[in-house]
Amino acid sequence: MTGAPAAVVGVLALQGDVREHSRMVAAAGGVAAEVRLPADLEGIDALIIPGGESTAIARLARLYGLIDPLRRRIESGLPTLGTCAGMIFLASGVTGESQPVLEVLDMVVERNAFGRQNESFECSLAVDGWEEGIHAVFIRAPLVESTGPEVEVLAEHEGRPVLVRKGNVLAAAFHPELTDDLRLHRMLIGMTGKDREG
Ligand code: GLN
Repeated sequence: MTGAPAAVVGVLALQGDVREHSRMVAAAGGVAAEVRLPADLEGIDALIIPGGESTAIARLARLYGLIDPLRRRIESGLPTLGTCAGMIFLASGVTGESQPVLEVLDMVVERNAFGRQNESFECSLAVDGWEEGIHAVFIRAPLVESTGPEVEVLAEHEGRPVLVRKGNVLAAAFHPELTDDLRLHRMLIGMTGKDREG
């Protein structure tokens, strides 16, 4: 696909690891575009919802009228990657909270509940179909309590899903953008069909 236009990857830029994800998108061969308003969703080929504080991201997304437009684009097939708070943002249920956010990924998560004493930690994880494991950085990560039947679990830590996929939606409880490992960003760009690296 030499000469084909690069995939434009929108990064939801309300709060959190926006710059880090944009850097990863560029390194993985895409073009990052910050998304703050519904109009910013036009023309993007994929979307990243970064880690940060899910309550802050959700509050701002509601304020800017982004919830329905985001849900519509994701439900109509936009390749999407949510990391940590982004995973919470995508989930259909959040334990102890009456209102989940986008409800586009069939799973229930509990905030700040993953890992011993809910701490931040790093480890190496095996990922389904990958020859080499991934170095995963967990920061007050969500615990995946249950997943729906169509949700594929691509990686687990201590028996709990930490990387999942359902169709066009990928979610990680950890932070790939805090490492130099581009494989998840490349996977997202690959899902757009505009993968220049073939
Ligand atoms: N604890 C955060 C939340 O619940 C998520 C942490 C993160 O994204 N690093 O929103």
